[in-house]
Amino acid sequence: MLHSTELLTPPARDTKVFVPELVYFEPDALNYPKGQKIQEWAKAQGLPIRTTTSHNRITDLPGESDLDKYRIAKRTLVVGIRKTLKFDQSKPSAEYAIPIATGCMAHCHYCYLQTTLGAKPYIRVYVNTDDILRQAEQYIQERAPEITRFEAACTSDPVGLEHISGSLKEYIEFMGQQPLGRLRFVTKYHHVEPLLDAEHNKHTRFRFSVNAEYVIKNFEPATSNFYERITAAGKVAHAGYPLGFIIAPIIWHEGWEDGYADLIRRIREALPAEARSDLTFELIQHRFTKTAKNIIQQRYPKTKLEMDEEKRKYKWGRWGQGKYVYPDDQANLLKAFMYEQIEAHFPEAKIEYFT
Ligand code: SF4
Repeated sequence: MLHSTELLTPPARDTKVFVPELVYFEPDALNYPKGQKIQEWAKAQGLPIRTTTSHNRITDLPGESDLDKYRIAKRTLVVGIRKTLKFDQSKPSAEYAIPIATGCMAHCHYCYLQTTLGAKPYIRVYVNTDDILRQAEQYIQERAPEITRFEAACTSDPVGLEHISGSLKEYIEFMGQQPLGRLRFVTKYHHVEPLLDAEHNKHTRFRFSVNAEYVIKNFEPATSNFYERITAAGKVAHAGYPLGFIIAPIIWHEGWEDGYADLIRRIREALPAEARSDLTFELIQHRFTKTAKNIIQQRYPKTKLEMDEEKRKYKWGRWGQGKYVYPDDQANLLKAFMYEQIEAHFPEAKIEYFT
């Protein structure tokens, strides 16, 4: 079994901030101050810069095979204007998904972006954040006097891109001024420094995605490690943000009870007392679709991710393709165990859902 003291030791090397290898700009993006700023940053980094007519269609992405193109896309930044200003729904964590970026540089084997972003999931950031925030304000007004929650991490990990775009801080400060608006996002990165002095007014819930050591080690390449994430969570709590943890995907693996008990204990040991006063947990069991399984096996052929349909329960989807989840007896065991552990170590925390 893993011992928490070992796992709370700093890693030999810090996880570095993301620097792409190639950057594309839509020409009109350079008419926006954010576009110009990102261009200056890319030039200062000495990055190759290209132009694209649309951030949705890059035709000259380098790479021989599909796998090459996939890997290169994950290191490619595209700077554009967000045209669709209709926000998607984002149940159960929020009412709406607020656009901020699309794509992610990490390589989590299980990530649902594997299927939703297609063959070339390059990382798109948007320069017209004023338009996006105006739209958010309209959604807030429509739902008044109810509170409206916006999830900023549906299609990306925005903390991992903050040093490039600065958009998350804008969104946090905007929501800080909205009596009826709330922001939420989740991250696997520890680069929280630029967000610590934001005027959040406690309207943003800052969540970290954490998992049993087995899951982080085997399925989450190119993310910050547990020690870095938990240290960052302490800083965020110290800065007064409401804090949360998403434990996802919860994976049934050999020794899962020890692994998840250890995780909750490590969070307890590492978190300063001030972080526990307004703390939430969200719990999501592992699921996959047939399409996702095929894609994951092509992209990560050696993955240890268990995706055996025979061992799963099929759950029909609202829009056609269903998902494979754990059979009820396993799901119930996972749920009961996680609740028990969290309630024992964090009696004051709120468990928002298990799905
Ligand atoms: Fe997907 Fe999140 Fe991993 Fe990025 S960090 S690859 S968005 S699961």
